Amino acid sequence: MSNFHYKKSLGQNFLKDELVLDKIIEESQIDENTLVIEIGPGAGALSYKILKKAKMAILYEVDTRLEKILYKNLDEFSNFKLIMKDFLNADVMSDIKDYQYKKIYLIANLPYYITTPIITKIMKEKLPISKLVVMVQKEVADRFTALPNTKSYGSFTVLLNYYYNVRKLFDVDKSSFEPVPKVDSSVIELIKKEDAVVKNVDFFINFVRDCFQYKRKNLKNNLYKYDLKKIDKILSKYGLNIYARAESLTLEIFIILANELC
Ligand code: SAM
Repeated sequence: MSNFHYKKSLGQNFLKDELVLDKIIEESQIDENTLVIEIGPGAGALSYKILKKAKMAILYEVDTRLEKILYKNLDEFSNFKLIMKDFLNADVMSDIKDYQYKKIYLIANLPYYITTPIITKIMKEKLPISKLVVMVQKEVADRFTALPNTKSYGSFTVLLNYYYNVRKLFDVDKSSFEPVPKVDSSVIELIKKEDAVVKNVDFFINFVRDCFQYKRKNLKNNLYKYDLKKIDKILSKYGLNIYARAESLTLEIFIILANELC
């Protein structure tokens, strides 16, 4: 966009590659029963394509300079509500309550500086979003899809994979954005899992975080306030012991441990 001063502090790298925009829409499989939430519509490049397919879309944009531009670029549509607000402070349940829909998807080229807080908000507030298709920093995509015993595997990987089936869809070249960012990007898909197998979600979240508290320390050191004998006994069934590090535990083992300890 000429004459627009992009704000780095708001993660403003707008997508200009039509092929990438089309690929995101194709992967999203939005239909006339879908309510879409988009965080950070920018100038509306992705929103335009969303609105062609979706029943309704709620767009959250924090930069007030974009309000006029968005109404102008999206003037052929009436199936959207633009909320000029920081998504992290939004009352999403109240914003969606007046609409009828069969499913809610979140589709966005996310502002990278708040990727984790955005997903944490969605999990914490139990927002009824069944699928997310989002552009994130490539390094973040690698963390979200990391396997045990790898450098990128951490407490957020475990928690995210508890709530969602996480999959990388495709990588996106830096040149697809304006201005060109320093980091590489990937589009990922998160599909909400149906079965909640954890007995006490709050306990589970704290337990996983405690396991990873000091990444270089073993479970014995990180879990000193828990019943170590019990943990060791459970781990022994899986060929592990309390001297293992959290990064070697699979999601299933975290769930079993948390359910036994809570
Ligand atoms: N969707 C557009 C596109 O793909 O061209 C713009 C994406 S750009 C990576 C991120 C957008 O998120 C910017 O428009 C920025 O102003 C907006 N944004 C940043 N922080 C936000 C927040 N807390 N709540 C809502 N929008 C935010």
